Amino acid sequence: MNEEHIFIVRCGEVALKGMNKPYFERMLAERIRKLLKRFDGIGVYRHEGLIFVRADKSLNKQDIIRQIGKAFGVASISPAVECESNMDAIGRAAVKYMLEALDERGVRTFKVEAKRADKNFPVRSPEIARKIGAAVLKGCRVLKVDVHHPDCRLFVDVRHDKTYIYQDKIPGFGGLPLGTNGKGMSLLSGGIDSPVATWMMAKRGMLIEAVHFHSYPYTSERARGKVEELASLVAVYCGRFQMHVINLLPIQEQIVRSCPEDETTILVRRFMMRIAQKLAERTGCGMLITGENLGQVASQTAEALVVTDASVTMPVMRPLIGMDKVDIMDLAKEIGTYEKSIEPYEDCCTVFLPKHPVTKPKLERILASEAKLDSEALIQAALDSGEMVTIYPA
Ligand code: ATP
Ligand code: MG
Repeated sequence: MNEEHIFIVRCGEVALKGMNKPYFERMLAERIRKLLKRFDGIGVYRHEGLIFVRADKSLNKQDIIRQIGKAFGVASISPAVECESNMDAIGRAAVKYMLEALDERGVRTFKVEAKRADKNFPVRSPEIARKIGAAVLKGCRVLKVDVHHPDCRLFVDVRHDKTYIYQDKIPGFGGLPLGTNGKGMSLLSGGIDSPVATWMMAKRGMLIEAVHFHSYPYTSERARGKVEELASLVAVYCGRFQMHVINLLPIQEQIVRSCPEDETTILVRRFMMRIAQKLAERTGCGMLITGENLGQVASQTAEALVVTDASVTMPVMRPLIGMDKVDIMDLAKEIGTYEKSIEPYEDCCTVFLPKHPVTKPKLERILASEAKLDSEALIQAALDSGEMVTIYPA
């Protein structure tokens, strides 16, 4: 029938954006094009509020669907067949489509649902459905109509130039196309939470830059390797990004030497935030992103978050703040970061972990402790010895 695979891609919320709609659609089409660059013989174009992907027949359909599904802003994807917009051609295409469904998927019952995007088409939608249903019954005699629980819902979308026939609507992640909502500096650890938080902000269209803190030689080269691999898994969705790698050890040692032990964690966190903010300012990021989650650990109580926040002036996005751990873990599994996150490597936060961290820190006391340190010099030295790596999609 068709010499190529055709996929109809529906834009989710993008469709609601009024005047900006063409911009969002263009960004989404561009993102899909990028995700499909690894294949030869692909065409991506916008048409009447949809995005069409055409791919050489030699390519694997599932591979293409999987790639398109990684683009934020995709509501659903339908592999489709195309025919001329006249009743005879549509009938023939529908019969052929259903014969294949019969063979490949053991479909026995069906229902036709028709839609007429072209209101000048001489046959109305219910009539199209009835006639095409009749054609299918005649062409595939074992099939029966079941309007309530059909094995196959056959959608017929009659458009001005062509008609599209499809069955599945494979859901995408939704969200908004990458690059439509600024850029954020993500504090990326090797844990479960921060990759998910990063993914969630990217899903709303935000470009990502990241910073990772280590305490080499207390933390190993392999621990750093793990974080880079984890970052690559996130880059599958948010595209290639830069990750700054900063050794926090000199700061941690100073804190341990000069400040009360129970304040170590919160003090270290405040330094992380301030270093991240400096990097954000340099790289055009408007906000910070963390995987913090209310009440999860001592440094994430309401009081601790207030004290952490007070260390920076930039807004801090915490997309996981109100989620339960099990739901964060489920999302990590769905996006494919969970297995890597749970690999057991040491983390810089566990170096010098106080036995009894303060759970209700008071800002004045924390500021008093910080006053014993030359914070500016420590931060500058950490930045000066920082490295940067480019993270490529896994
Ligand atoms: P995660 O699973 O993301 O590591 P967590 O539940 O272990 O989070 P913390 O270790 O308290 O919580 O860290 C809270 C947040 O601080 C993390 O989600 C991350 O955004 C940031 N963070 C923690 N450790 C690091 C690190 N080594 N490098 C960069 N950011 C970090
Ligand atoms: Mg952690």
